[in-house]
Amino acid sequence: MRTAKSAIIISTILIAMSCKEQNSEQAPTNEIQAIFPLGQKGSAEYFTGNAYNYGLVPADSTFTTLVGNVYFEPGARSNWHTHPGGQILIITDGVGYYQEEGKSKQIMRKGDVVKCPPEVKHWHGASPDKGLQQMYIVPNTEKGIVNWMEPVTDETYNM
Ligand code: MN
Repeated sequence: MRTAKSAIIISTILIAMSCKEQNSEQAPTNEIQAIFPLGQKGSAEYFTGNAYNYGLVPADSTFTTLVGNVYFEPGARSNWHTHPGGQILIITDGVGYYQEEGKSKQIMRKGDVVKCPPEVKHWHGASPDKGLQQMYIVPNTEKGIVNWMEPVTDETYNM
């Protein structure tokens, strides 16, 4: 009788444990899916918060195009900057913002494609609650790649 009771208790504990294990294997709803390796942390000189860059295609004289991926942690964003030859952003996961100077902030989500015109001052980054996986294409690199400017203030970011 005592053995049977113990067996029931032990099997109940085992079932409870296996349920718990299954639950922890489920992806959290706010998890960001990465396609590429994380890469290197961006300099605090050019980014607020943690942003990681992974280069995919280096620019050369044949292609004059730079391609890479940036993962922005929630709240992270670039400084204001311009691209002399423009830039194209392709969002592969998460939620973020793109803002051109003098315009309102625009939300970017998975599947969005944004064109930043040459020499237009702008910034991009993650939303406060969800990170952003952003591929970037910088064409016309013979004109230059990026001109970094001042950080985006919390006031502007939260506007
Ligand atoms: Mn840019």
